[in-house]
Amino acid sequence: MSDAYGFSTEIDNVIEEGRIINTHCHISTDEQFENADLNLLFDKSYLNWVSDIPRDFSKSEDICLFVKKMCTNNYFYYLDRAVERIYGISLSSGKWKDLDLKISSAYKDKSYFLDELKYTCGYRLGLLDNCRNPGFDNNHCDIFRPVLRIDSLFLKGEDDYNDVSAERFVSSSALNDFNLYMKEVEAFISGKIERREVYAIKIASAYDFAFDFPASDEDSAKKSFQGKMPDSFFHSYLFDKVATICARYDVPLQIHTGIAPTSNTRAWSLFNIIKSHPETKFVIFHGSFPWIDDPVAMLHLFKNVYVDICWMPLISTSYTIDFLKKILEVGNCDRICWGCDTRMFEESFAAILALKDVLPPAISFFVDGGRISAEEGRVIIRKILYENAERLYRL
Ligand SMILES: [Zn+2]
Repeated sequence: MSDAYGFSTEIDNVIEEGRIINTHCHISTDEQFENADLNLLFDKSYLNWVSDIPRDFSKSEDICLFVKKMCTNNYFYYLDRAVERIYGISLSSGKWKDLDLKISSAYKDKSYFLDELKYTCGYRLGLLDNCRNPGFDNNHCDIFRPVLRIDSLFLKGEDDYNDVSAERFVSSSALNDFNLYMKEVEAFISGKIERREVYAIKIASAYDFAFDFPASDEDSAKKSFQGKMPDSFFHSYLFDKVATICARYDVPLQIHTGIAPTSNTRAWSLFNIIKSHPETKFVIFHGSFPWIDDPVAMLHLFKNVYVDICWMPLISTSYTIDFLKKILEVGNCDRICWGCDTRMFEESFAAILALKDVLPPAISFFVDGGRISAEEGRVIIRKILYENAERLYRL
């Protein structure tokens, strides 16, 4: 791809300077990387979400068929390029046994993946969403800033998806007492923020239930909590409380929107909540993909809406270029962030390669049209890669 305006080079410069603020990642703990190999990389990759991957690396025919089948898929394409850059062996070469050996030998060095996150990916910091241990920085405060994922609080119990129980955060007696529950939830979240143990609150409830947030009040929420009304009334009430707490402390509220294993998870369904909380900074994740027009309109309507394109460039290059052009036109360049949204550094690097294929063409559109200079384009790249995040999360 041509780099007429030097945008690709500018991204490389930022990586080299080690300044990227990766606003959303799920990098695993040190223990999970013990005995890391190609199978672990597959287990933790998005590739695994969209296709069965051959796991017997001696069956070259199966691997060859898989490679042929996946050649247009974004997850495959960028992971393929990433491992080739890192290990000198691509997935499409079919030499998975050799690649497996290279990966397992690299991970014998315990600090390997952390060094790669810093130097190959160029991260100054990553906002860490540890799904299984919310608010934990994996004991690496030099590179991670924890985010508090509170899905289990909406479920009033076990978050089976991530194996996290609400009882980790509130007392067991609160699970049967609405007033006590709300009191303990507020104290828990506020305390975490006040002690600066977390830098954002994250709601990924889209993985558990659809975005159905009816107008609610204390009485309906209590009945809902007790099972006498649909769960959605409690969900609405709790969401409202969390948004209020975030506004009080000026802590951003990150929300997973778009594709998820439940129906109706599009960003537009958050309209009423966002409208009633003008002081809360709502960060719409993943561009509400595939309903990418929703956040575009919301940027126009609400000055307190921010867009994080995390995950998007890995999912679809064409969607993301289109989306970036739209949000830059309709919104502005101060309310856009990026995160890798991955679990291992190899796929995180793949996310950077994917980002390098979407930012330059999207910003070039504005230079080609004579709206901005190439220099202004480079400033926008730096805003998206770290300046906006530094300001939004007060890093
Ligand atoms: Zn994520």
